[in-house]
Amino acid sequence: MVEKQKLTCIGCPMGCSLELMIIDGQLQEVNGNNCPRGENYARQEFSDPRRMVSTTVACPSGLWPRLPVKTAEAIPKDRIMEVVRQLHRMEVTAPVEIGQTLVTDVAGTGVAVVASRSLARKSD
Ligand code: SF4
Repeated sequence: MVEKQKLTCIGCPMGCSLELMIIDGQLQEVNGNNCPRGENYARQEFSDPRRMVSTTVACPSGLWPRLPVKTAEAIPKDRIMEVVRQLHRMEVTAPVEIGQTLVTDVAGTGVAVVASRSLARKSD
């Protein structure tokens, strides 16, 4: 069976429209990409779609009550909700430095979560 799937490449602002030719469930061909990154993106998206996750975690002792955080690498797309749920349940203690590892293996993905910015401790 032959199927065609369309994707928009997110590799750069050109946003090329990619067309994936799938035969018997196997990706055979990628068209519409203006550079090799488009084909790599299409193949990754077809076989193992991944996303970076950015959110906030509670930091009651911080100058602001929530700290922006992000995954250190892209995680499997189907694990995003588990990761977000775990992060929304956790609390960190200020002070926090930008890039500080807050979780080493979020939701069993093997990926760390780091602080996206520094956050000082609030004065008492
Ligand atoms: S295929 Fe290349 S040029 Fe096109 S959007 Fe992706 S990265 Fe940009």
